[in-house]
Amino acid sequence: MNPIEEALKIKDEIIAWRRDFHMHPELKYEEERTSRIVEEHLREWGYKIKRVGTGIIGDIGEGEKTIALRADMDALPVQEENDVPYRSRIPGKMHACGHDAHTAMLLGAAKIIAEHADELGGKVRLIFQPAEEGGNGALKMIEGGALDGVDAIFGFHVWMDLPSGIIGIRDGPFLAGAGFFEAKVIGKGGHGASPHEAIDPIPIAAETVLALQTIVSRNVNPIETGVVSVTAINGGTTFNVIPEEVTLKGTFRYYKPEVGEMIKKRMAEIIEGVAKTHGARAEFSINDLVPPTINDKAMADFARKVAEKYRLRHGDVAMSMGAEDFAYYLQRVPGAFLALGIRNEGKGIVHPHHHPKFDVDEDVLHLGTAMEVALAFEFLKD
Ligand SMILES: [Zn+2]
Ligand SMILES: [Zn+2]
Repeated sequence: MNPIEEALKIKDEIIAWRRDFHMHPELKYEEERTSRIVEEHLREWGYKIKRVGTGIIGDIGEGEKTIALRADMDALPVQEENDVPYRSRIPGKMHACGHDAHTAMLLGAAKIIAEHADELGGKVRLIFQPAEEGGNGALKMIEGGALDGVDAIFGFHVWMDLPSGIIGIRDGPFLAGAGFFEAKVIGKGGHGASPHEAIDPIPIAAETVLALQTIVSRNVNPIETGVVSVTAINGGTTFNVIPEEVTLKGTFRYYKPEVGEMIKKRMAEIIEGVAKTHGARAEFSINDLVPPTINDKAMADFARKVAEKYRLRHGDVAMSMGAEDFAYYLQRVPGAFLALGIRNEGKGIVHPHHHPKFDVDEDVLHLGTAMEVALAFEFLKD
């Protein structure tokens, strides 16, 4: 069985699934339609199914070893701006990260694996998870038993920063750890003409935003890496009223846990301290979202060998400060998160993930399917 030839045979089917999912995007934990379609196919192909909310675990094969393959299914609250026949039919919702492609690729792999189930040297577990986008669906799947008995796990993300068709494989750290914060700077409202009788939260919030920038520039060791971004600031309604409060929101990113801890500590000190200095008060929360995504070196090497054996074009992929809840699987089971290049300048497929004009080069999706099938069969060989 040649995974590339098998995947090529169902290339159009994979694209058709992707387009169907693309036209019917569902937000985190609302993946009812998508998971129903996935479940129907898996049942038809002989998989043993376990449902975890809107997530699906599908098992096939018998044996000592188990390899898990994971796809995420959720879309984003983005209004699509692409003018394509398969554009989103749902206003304000869009598959702008490519999870429609992940689901379609893994469905393709599911079909091929089922057709050759008698050649499998062990068990394959497919994990179709909900809510990757800020919902930590991975944790729900793990609580639901997705990793029970699993020896290795692999997942794919379509990747705009790689040329179309290249499989990106990286050892060690690949994606960042991420968290988010919300802060309310509470002063004392008043007349815009009488600032001395008020405690104006606007300059205090502005100072807080600037001071937060010193964490990365002055506190993080220049050899290490971190991000602090204030992404929302809201306060006030009109020109002559000093508002009572200003709210701030943002995210922080890191690779090393100790850097993450330091960023959180400094954020708390700055938000609280700047407000206090000016006689205001701050209410805030600083939350972890996902840990860094760190690939197992042996598993990344294995993936490289598999790609070489089947002459799938592959290369290195740069680290990114993006984050993925696939990190939770990798904390528990050895594995690797792989990238599939989908950037195609000739087709105008250049817009970044989460952009209203994001799209994927569909002509390479079968390569992701082929790699998933190859990983499964090669891993279970001995
Ligand atoms: Zn995303
Ligand atoms: Zn994504």
